[in-house]
Amino acid sequence: MKKMKCDLCDYEAEGETFEQWMTALKPHYADAHAEVMQSKKGTPEEMRAEMMKWMAGNNARFELVK
Ligand SMILES: [Zn+2]
Repeated sequence: MKKMKCDLCDYEAEGETFEQWMTALKPHYADAHAEVMQSKKGTPEEMRAEMMKWMAGNNARFELVK
């Protein structure tokens, strides 16, 4: 099980895989960073692009966690 902090605060989520980590982080994100998600609202294409960028960045970060 890998532990990695939220990209915006010190909250730690766990997961064997990046997908599991993301699932574990989701409720926290919706709770603590709703305004961030709100501020990124745009067209579906823009939101998809934003999500892909977020996932790529955090996936790279997850790969570095031992
Ligand atoms: Zn957070």
